[in-house]
Amino acid sequence: MYIKDRHFSLSDKTWNINEAKVAIQEIATDAIQHLKSGYLWPSHPLDDDASSHSFYYGTSGVSWALDYLCREDVADIEFNLKFALKNQLEKCQAELVNMPHTENASYLFGDIPILMMQFQLSKDQKLLDELASKITVNNSQPTRELMWGSAGTMIALTHLQRWLPNDIRWEQAYQVQSTKLMNELQENNEFGFMWKIDVYGKQQYFLGPMHGNSGNVLSLIKGRHLLKNSDYKEFCEKVMISTVRTAVTDHKYANWPPIAGKTDRMLLQYCHGAPGMLTALSELPADINSEFDEVLLKGGELIWDAGPLRKGFGLCHGTAGNGFAFLKLFQRTNNQIWLDRARAFAMKAIEQHRQAKILFQQGRYALWNGDVGLAIFLNECIKETANFPTIDNF
Ligand SMILES: [Zn+2]
Repeated sequence: MYIKDRHFSLSDKTWNINEAKVAIQEIATDAIQHLKSGYLWPSHPLDDDASSHSFYYGTSGVSWALDYLCREDVADIEFNLKFALKNQLEKCQAELVNMPHTENASYLFGDIPILMMQFQLSKDQKLLDELASKITVNNSQPTRELMWGSAGTMIALTHLQRWLPNDIRWEQAYQVQSTKLMNELQENNEFGFMWKIDVYGKQQYFLGPMHGNSGNVLSLIKGRHLLKNSDYKEFCEKVMISTVRTAVTDHKYANWPPIAGKTDRMLLQYCHGAPGMLTALSELPADINSEFDEVLLKGGELIWDAGPLRKGFGLCHGTAGNGFAFLKLFQRTNNQIWLDRARAFAMKAIEQHRQAKILFQQGRYALWNGDVGLAIFLNECIKETANFPTIDNF
């Protein structure tokens, strides 16, 4: 059900709020001390792209996170966000031409979040026009997933609509993209109601939040206030069925393969496996489908018993991302055990982060894979909340 040697057992480590606070400040200070001119952090040997300025594992995601930690009042640093974004926007736009899916508007690799941050700072209306014209590209392109396609721009639209409820463009674009997404949910004899995701030149039943079905569901959960109640209710019932049917379960545990039905390599991390499925789907209503409620809890049990990930400490495929699933279960069930488990993983992730820094002689400056993502997870553990960065908030 999962690959044992990718995890290690959790030795006792008691939650220490002061240690978590110290680690957050330590991460923020280290990022400020190690940036190159123009707020362009050194890349990490373990990240594929040597010089990314994307939101996902590049410099613009670090900028967002540092600014967020300052806004949360948990990091005390001097940070010139305006100057950083100007440099990162130019670099990110230059990189985009060599990316996959250049025809799409991408939330996690494109310039959309940088323009959103610039708007937050300047309130310049021209940035809104630019955002509207870029985001509506996804009204007609075929990629339905979070990293490159319309699920990502739908998440961006929920933030823009929240900031600017009187500007009808955001709701209109959300309606177009969500209607298309809902209409393309197809009934499948084996798995229930699914999207076949068209990404990297292949069409497959991906399940995880980055490329798969749960990311599409997440984009509809986050904009549920913009949907007709009856449509949303019917949609929830359908996706609960497919979540149950695509799970691999036994009497105690549950996990999900990266692609429905292909169980040869069962990962257990945010991007593929139970942690991401739980984190993405935890806001679906409880007490409608008991099998769905149960399978989420079984997924939580597996993440806990498997232990932290050896691969890293970050959000996308590391211990903080797995810990986030516990925060989401705490939010869903109000059962203290899930908060305690999140906090146990948090203490271990701090240790992993410090060991990696010694090993590589540098920090890992990225939101989804690196230090600042961990800092945000620690802050959520302190606050007893479960806001996944840039999905649940911006
Ligand atoms: Zn990942």
